Amino acid sequence: MARELITGIDPAVVRENLERVRERAGDDVEILIATKYVPIDEFEALAEAGVTLVGENRQQDLEAKAERWGDRFTFDFIGTLQSRKVKAILPRVRLIHSVCTDSALAQLERHASPDTEVLVQVNVSGEETKAGVAPEELDGFIARCPVRVVGLMTMPPFTTDPETSRPYFARLAELAAEHGLRHLSMGTSQDWPVAVEEGATIIRLGSAALRPADSTSHNRGKEIRS
Ligand SMILES: *Cc1c(COP(=O)(O)O)cnc(C)c1O
Repeated sequence: MARELITGIDPAVVRENLERVRERAGDDVEILIATKYVPIDEFEALAEAGVTLVGENRQQDLEAKAERWGDRFTFDFIGTLQSRKVKAILPRVRLIHSVCTDSALAQLERHASPDTEVLVQVNVSGEETKAGVAPEELDGFIARCPVRVVGLMTMPPFTTDPETSRPYFARLAELAAEHGLRHLSMGTSQDWPVAVEEGATIIRLGSAALRPADSTSHNRGKEIRS
């Protein structure tokens, strides 16, 4: 995956984006800002914009950013979860969104605290390249999980048409209801309004929150500042 950093983040832009999202998502949906492309020095701009909840994808980035900014933000872990990183991730985060392997469960068993809560990532679309527990294996997986499962997360296939994601979100909501789970972490920049309509409790936004609303080109943020 290309990791192109987003620099020159304008707090006013982020604040405006968040207000627009908040208006449409309502007060009950948590807006998590996905910060994998945000350099550590840019977090001040996020704080100024009123961001309080962020999600990181890699343990090392999480470590560094939580070390420096842990008193200003709540951190979640949203990336591919390597089991050997579980121990280092746990004390830094409120929630891991991406628990989906038995090796991760084994590490949770060893390192979690009594109040650790996690989300289970579900591969609703069945894409072979996607991480996640298959829907038909969810029952057993939750039963084997040594810590409290409080919700589900999914990443639908990449799309330019948000409606394409709707059946996957609806299915995730169904699965959460069947298991009496409170949290639904679903919806990114490409499809968050649809996710909200289908019951998302946490949406995870990168570019839609960080770049100017009329930005079409990937590098627009940089161009504006030069
Ligand atoms: C990067 C990322 C997001 C946000 O994606 P955008 O398209 O930038 O909104 C959400 N969830 C996960 C797991 C991510 O890695």
